[in-house]
Amino acid sequence: MDMITPEQESWSRVKGRLRVEVGDDIYSSWFARMDLEGLDDSTVRLSVPTRFLKSWIQSHYSERVLACWQAEHATVGRIELSVRSGVLRSLAQKPATVQPAAAHQNGHAIRLSGNEQRAISSPLSAAHEALGGSPLDPRLTFETFVLGRSNTLAHAAAKQVAAARRGDPVMFNPLYIHSGVGLGKTHLLQSITWAGNAAGEHKVLYLTAEKFMYGFVSALRSQTAIAFKEVLRGIDVLVIDDLQFLQGKNTQAEFCHTLNALIDAGRQVVIASDRPPSDLESLDDRVRSRLAGGLVVEMSSLGEELRLEILKSRMEAAKVHHPGFDVPPPVLAYIAKTITHNGRDLEGALNRLLAHSKLTGQPVTLELAEREMRDLIRPQEPKRVKIEDIQRVVARQYNVSRADLLSSRRTANVVRPRQVAMYLAKTLTLRSLPEIGRRFGGRDHTTVLHAVRKIENLVGSDTTLAEEIEVLKRQLQD
Ligand code: ADP
Ligand code: MG
Repeated sequence: MDMITPEQESWSRVKGRLRVEVGDDIYSSWFARMDLEGLDDSTVRLSVPTRFLKSWIQSHYSERVLACWQAEHATVGRIELSVRSGVLRSLAQKPATVQPAAAHQNGHAIRLSGNEQRAISSPLSAAHEALGGSPLDPRLTFETFVLGRSNTLAHAAAKQVAAARRGDPVMFNPLYIHSGVGLGKTHLLQSITWAGNAAGEHKVLYLTAEKFMYGFVSALRSQTAIAFKEVLRGIDVLVIDDLQFLQGKNTQAEFCHTLNALIDAGRQVVIASDRPPSDLESLDDRVRSRLAGGLVVEMSSLGEELRLEILKSRMEAAKVHHPGFDVPPPVLAYIAKTITHNGRDLEGALNRLLAHSKLTGQPVTLELAEREMRDLIRPQEPKRVKIEDIQRVVARQYNVSRADLLSSRRTANVVRPRQVAMYLAKTLTLRSLPEIGRRFGGRDHTTVLHAVRKIENLVGSDTTLAEEIEVLKRQLQD
């Protein structure tokens, strides 16, 4: 067994202090892989495995680390941080310089700040390709976005963001748009990207959460601190689509830092997700509250009128390429009425009719539409029930307050309603037990499980309770 030196003992006490000061999450993201290389009376030498970690710690935590050491050894006056890996060591010892044009990693060029670059290619592709932006669909622009009651606010906010210019005050940050699938989030986000980038100087970067995880973060990791800031400086608006897919502790830590860095620098962040910030279960509370701190807009399902307008505009677009194609108004009205789900199904319906008309040369009739639509019409999806609604409805039913349900009070008149509410949360939503526990005043998942089992058992024998629960379910579902 290795001897534990006094230096290493001090180091583990310093690490303990750091962990307490910054919290477990930050500690494990940034400091878990930090090693002590040596200590003489005034200088501590530490190492980390990557340059990114080094520069991040230097620019964000150097004083903290120093202070923790000084609490242990008053004589320490300086921290020296190096990169451990043999390959990178020689690079790390060179002074950090900003590379003017490109930094290569895995054969992939990351342009930092390049007026030259901008001059060569179009503004959109320069901003986008340089930073590994996700592909954009040329059809998803503001021009093709149809307005309706369900999306007016989201659209207005998106327009505002796209029209803002560098130096303008940022009105709401981040702009967070959420809705069910197929209701136009990606369409709006890509519209912002097209419109924003059309005005040369402005740079909007559109990334799916997946791209963010596998492209952007690793690109950032390969940069020095200065280069990292330079990259961020080049972005006016960062757009992230499908945030619900952002996974992994480290990725989230980096997302959190990117978000903070951009917002603090007055840059706009736009996010789309299939749920509100409070339902992003795997994100930590600080990120969630930062996300909720801007403007959160929900887009509800497309109303029949809006569906009809979307169909009409789609038809006009299709006619450009297929002049013989025509769908008479009654057929459009029929589709708008029967296909209730989302924009993607509307598109699918029209494509079917188009294919049919192309292949058979026959006119599109109502009969044809009825036949073709049959398997596109699915039973109405069950309504999304929210935990807050469950708590509100249960509290009202049992004449207690919502605060009682979330409290730690254990009197019988509160315990039973609380168990019922947890049971309903488990059966009517897709939330996990730990998430439900968190939403019920930070309870443990075993408590939730216990409540769910308890009510399941009681419902079998207690008809009054069974009826009460049926009534509650009905109130929540329609
Ligand atoms: P989401 O990202 O919310 O799942 P999308 O933006 O991908 O939804 O939209 C699905 C389809 O519906 C796309 O083809 C989109 O162009 C269309 N769509 C949705 N809302 C609108 C709208 N308001 N105007 C025009 N097309 C729309
Ligand atoms: Mg989408």
